[in-house]
This record gives sequence, structure tokens and C-alpha cells, in this order.
Amino acid sequence: MGDYYQVTEWREGYYRIGSPENVFSEVIIGTDKALLFDTGYGFGNLAKTVKEITDLPLIIVNSHGHVDHCGGNYQFDEPGYLHPADMELSYSHTSEKMRALSVEQAKETRDILTGEKHNILPEKFDEDSYITAGIGDLIPMEEGQIFDLGDKKLEVVGLPGHTPGSVGLLEREDEILFVGDAINAHLWLFLPESLKLSDYIATLHKAQELPFSQMVQAHHPMIAEKDVLTGYLDTAENLDIGKGHPYPNAIFPEIASVICAREGYDFRDPGFSSIVISEEHLG
Ligand SMILES: [Zn+2]
Ligand SMILES: [Zn+2]
Repeated sequence: MGDYYQVTEWREGYYRIGSPENVFSEVIIGTDKALLFDTGYGFGNLAKTVKEITDLPLIIVNSHGHVDHCGGNYQFDEPGYLHPADMELSYSHTSEKMRALSVEQAKETRDILTGEKHNILPEKFDEDSYITAGIGDLIPMEEGQIFDLGDKKLEVVGLPGHTPGSVGLLEREDEILFVGDAINAHLWLFLPESLKLSDYIATLHKAQELPFSQMVQAHHPMIAEKDVLTGYLDTAENLDIGKGHPYPNAIFPEIASVICAREGYDFRDPGFSSIVISEEHLG
């Protein structure tokens, strides 16, 4: 299981933990403390991987309440900080029912390149204890709260849209913004817990005013530059649901979600962006 997670230090003191789960956890090392942003599904031994990076006192922060971001909290003694607006969501996402569903999906994960299905659960995975693991202790956090790691300071920035309690962490001096799922080129805004398109547009405008140059997105292996926001805003502000294409989703098949992509861009272009949305989220 040693290789379940891949750790890269992409900038001094900033580590990304990747895994077959296709979601990244971030570890930020300060002079006094370390911070773990998101815990993935937690199928592998994430706590051990984090321990191998640092033995500093650890602060755990969840970007939002989805199971692919707070599913590994159970492995840690430390509580997770979460925005209060996503508390209920995180409990339902780490319920036995949702965890069992995540395990079933993990057994049939489609390879992005080959399209073939394979089981991403690690060897010796203890299914029963995973399904009943819950989420552990949570502490509500608020806008403007600062996690002080010594030299580095991470500030909580509300980025509602994808979920009501989605947050980013801003390191002003190093000009880095961690955004979880709140801002990206394939934004899910069709979920029952998602807010309106206008809320997401407000979040994008808010992000544009923040002092950062690099943006770290939970499902993307590359670090984004700030100017991608221009394309995301163009997509959001000119969105015409009538021009979208059906986007069947396995989680909520009853929701008629469509994908609306930026006009004039192929999905391979750097300026490409898209939003998956349903009628209820317009306006
Ligand atoms: Zn999410
Ligand atoms: Zn996610």
C-alpha cells in the first residue's frame, strides 16, 4: 500500500498528495505547524502518508462537505475545520449509505485514458470499518479566519456556489489560493446543494479581487494561473442552457443536468471551461 499515494513538493513547503481516487489533498508546512487541506475519500492510509511528510502539529481543513474531500477525516485524531453551511452535507456524505456507495463506485472506477473499469481500493482494504467510520469531530470555521502556521498564514475565503459552504484558503505572501472544487474548468452546479449561477459568478468576481497568482484545484494535477478566471467568468456570464448538451450523471439520474461549455473553445484548449447545471440553478 506504500504507493497508494503519490507525494510531490511543487513549491517549497507545499505538497500535493495524489492517489487513484483522482482527488488531491494539500499539505502546507509552516515553521510551527502544518495544515492538511482535504482528506480525499480516505481509502488508503492518508494519515501515514501525511506523517511521512511532517511530524509538526497538524490542522485539518475541509474545502467543503463532499465525501471525496472529507472522507479521510476519520483517520486523524485532529478535528476537521468545515464551513457551517456544509455541516449537514458532510454528515450525509459520510453516512454508511454514502460510504457504501463510494466503495462500490471505487471498485468500478473508469480509467481516464483507457476507459476500462478497475478497482482502486488498496490491498487489505477493510470495507466494514470504512463504511462505519463516520466523519469524526468537526469545528465550524468562518470567513476571514486565519490558520497561523508560523511563517505561512492561510486565510479562509468563502467561495459559495458548488456547495453553500465551499471555501478557499489564501496565502497572501506566497500569492496562492487553494479552491477545492469551488472554482474550476468543469464546475458542477447541478447538485441539490449547489447555489445559483449568480452566486458562482459573485464568487468568481470575489476571487478576481484576491491577491494571488497561482490557484490550486482539487481535481486538477496542474497548478492554474490566475488569468483562467477570465475564461471561467466568460462561460458563466454568457451561459445559455439551451445550447448545453445533456450530461447524464450517475449520482442523481433524475436531475436533468446539461454541460455548457465556453463558446469557441475545444476542451483541449487552455481557455476552455464548462459548467454542469440544471434549470433550478439558473438566475
Ligand atoms: Zn465537490
Ligand atoms: Zn470533488
